[in-house]
Amino acid sequence: MSDCIFCKIIAGEIDSYKVYEDENVLAFLDINPHAKGHTLVVPKIHAETIFDLDDEQMEKLSVAVKRTAEKIDSVLHPEGYNIGWNHGKIGGQVVPHLHVHIMPRYNGDRGGNMHSIISNDGGMSVGQIAKMFE
Ligand code: AMP
Ligand code: ZN
Repeated sequence: MSDCIFCKIIAGEIDSYKVYEDENVLAFLDINPHAKGHTLVVPKIHAETIFDLDDEQMEKLSVAVKRTAEKIDSVLHPEGYNIGWNHGKIGGQVVPHLHVHIMPRYNGDRGGNMHSIISNDGGMSVGQIAKMFE
């Protein structure tokens, strides 16, 4: 997409600090890092969310996330990670080109975990929700 900032990075029109690259995926350092080595893993095909990516591309993205984390691990030796993505506007997604955040975690970094993103059960019990999936 011509006006997409991540498509421009993939095309080399905007500079980035590459961490990992293969045929389908580019991983580069986040310009506004929330952790040392905060990296974005981006499919080269323009897709806004996982619903716009076919299964094969999704598999390739998943493997690339692992390869990128392995590379970060070998260079920065973090003690752990938070790996995930902001999905859709309400999920906090700002750049409308799917990107997986890899946030390396270090002892004493004072960060939170996935549970700190939201705590709101929507007023429904787990049992009620489960019934909707039957
Ligand atoms: P999100 O809120 O999940 O859409 O995150 C978008 C991320 O893209 C943010 O963490 C930004 O810091 C990062 N970002 C935006 N522009 C660039 C850029 N040119 N190079 C690297 N990272 C960027
Ligand atoms: Zn794009």
